[in-house]
Amino acid sequence: MKKFHNITMIEGIGFDSNIYVFDDVIVDTGTGQNIEYVLNSIKEAGFNISEDIKRIVNTHCHFDHTGGNHFFNAKIAIHQADAPALENGDINTTAAYMFGKPIEPMKVDFHLKEGDKINDFEVIHTPGHTAGGICLYDGETLISGDTVFAEGGFGRFDIGGDIKMLKTSLEKLSNLDVEYLLPGHGPAVDNGSEHINLSNRNIKQF
Ligand SMILES: [Zn+2]
Ligand SMILES: [Zn+2]
Repeated sequence: MKKFHNITMIEGIGFDSNIYVFDDVIVDTGTGQNIEYVLNSIKEAGFNISEDIKRIVNTHCHFDHTGGNHFFNAKIAIHQADAPALENGDINTTAAYMFGKPIEPMKVDFHLKEGDKINDFEVIHTPGHTAGGICLYDGETLISGDTVFAEGGFGRFDIGGDIKMLKTSLEKLSNLDVEYLLPGHGPAVDNGSEHINLSNRNIKQF
């Protein structure tokens, strides 16, 4: 467990995504396969899960980010383009089949779009890894899901993605001033813009 300002990072173990908690929001929930570790980490950070966490924001529909949703009594928010995969329990679009797991259909409460606000954060639509991938940006910190990772990494585009869209999304992110980059996998880093610019250069080779 790490802290970036008021954001708690729970580093993903196994196949789980990283999870971020701030205010009344949890961003992504992992596969659900390590839920004890996840819940204990959130408690250690000082949250009372049932009282404090009201909303789940999923950066995209993939199972390693959404499989734990049903362990929380919270409203679910996801970009409108990725919502149907959760609503229909679509094992292909959520890539649940890669984990050998079914995914139960879920009720999506908020169908997000570009420019929506999650407390201090703004929703940035960054398709390419999936059609409805989002990042959250507050002018300093970028929670980037599987769109961009530290050290010049970026998300796969061969599991429901699109390389052209991902290139456009990285170009868009490279125009932001990012201090803290909090990605869906791997380490969170400062000097985020340098990492994003490297990713943006790397993807041009594809
Ligand atoms: Zn992922
Ligand atoms: Zn993903």
